[in-house]
Amino acid sequence: MTKFIFDLDGTITSKETLPLISNHFRLNEEIESLTKETVEGNIPFIESFIRRVYILGQLPVDEIDNLLETVELHPKVVDFISQNSDNCVIATGNLECWISKLVKKIGCKCYHSEGIIKDNKVEKLTKILKKENIVSFYKNAGEKVVFIGDGNNDMEAMRIADVAIASGLTHKPAKSVLSVSDYLVYSEEALCRLLNQLL
Ligand SMILES: [Mg+2]
Repeated sequence: MTKFIFDLDGTITSKETLPLISNHFRLNEEIESLTKETVEGNIPFIESFIRRVYILGQLPVDEIDNLLETVELHPKVVDFISQNSDNCVIATGNLECWISKLVKKIGCKCYHSEGIIKDNKVEKLTKILKKENIVSFYKNAGEKVVFIGDGNNDMEAMRIADVAIASGLTHKPAKSVLSVSDYLVYSEEALCRLLNQLL
């Protein structure tokens, strides 16, 4: 069987969730510079992620969860996932507590990072998801793995996937992603056509 593994931010959602959170809580400057440094490759992803969780972890978890439930999605991509929910999973670095309602709405299995929640805040980060581990897991189970992503943190997963699709639906895919991709799509139509072809 074919397993489709989707990145969440920018691939299923049509807006990045991080700026949405920072706008809502007016943390723009702090988060913007962190995002910029990460995108430019000046801060390694894991370090950037830990810093981000440290900043956002102080904010009320339930409010972020409610906010992210309202993030704009790519409707055709979501349709494909609902029609093929057994074949589709999400792999995201986001913490489970921040995206639980959003994931429920999308309606497929999701692998995520985890933390300990206390008093409606993230007290401690306990697991940072490595997307490549999810690819290996399904490959070892004998599945053909298709990975759809756009960011630096998708690169390793895409390198080892059987088929890697670079998504340019929200922004231009990271250079590292392009270097390991088999396909590049700039529209939902093109992506869904390709996904149905690979099904
Ligand atoms: Mg992304």
